[in-house]
Amino acid sequence: MGDYNSILVAVDLSEEAGEVAAKAARLAAANNAQMHVIHVIEPLSFAYGGDIPIDFSSIQEEIQQQAETQLRGLCANLAVPVERLHIVLGRPENEIHTLAKKLSADLIVVGSHGRHGFALLLGSTANGVLHGATCDVLAMRVGKK
Ligand code: AMP
Repeated sequence: MGDYNSILVAVDLSEEAGEVAAKAARLAAANNAQMHVIHVIEPLSFAYGGDIPIDFSSIQEEIQQQAETQLRGLCANLAVPVERLHIVLGRPENEIHTLAKKLSADLIVVGSHGRHGFALLLGSTANGVLHGATCDVLAMRVGKK
C-alpha cells in the first residue's frame, strides 16, 4: 500500500489542467489510490451580487455545461469514472476543503498556478487550499515559473 489512499485533484479549465490531472492520476496509480476530480464554478452573482439587475441563470448554465463537457473529456482520457468528477458551485478553496473532508482525502493536488496566479509565486487558489487543508497538499509546478 502507498502513502495515499484517496487523492483529490482540483482543476480549473486552463491549458495546464490536463497536465495537473495526468500527474495526479500517475500518483494515484503508483499509490493504488482512488482519484477524484473537482472543479468549482464561482457563481456570477458572487462577483456582481445585486449590483446589476441581470438574470445570470442562462449564462451560468452555459458555463456549467461547457465545464462539464471539458472535464468529462479529461476524466475519460485518464479513465476516471464520471462518478468521481465533482463540479460544484462556490468558492474554490472552500469547496475543495469541504469535498476533501467528505471523501477523507489524504492528498489534494493543485497546480501551482492557473488563471489567477501567474504573477504570484503560488497561485491564489493553491495558496488558499494549502492554508486551510487538513491533509497533505501537492502544488504541482506548471507553466514557466
Ligand atoms: P490559480 O489560483 O488560478 O493560479 O490556480 C492554481 C490552481 O488551483 C489550478 O492549477 C487548479 O489546480 C486550482 N484551481 C484554480 N481554480 C480552480 C477552480 N475553479 N476549481 C478547482 N480548482 C481550481
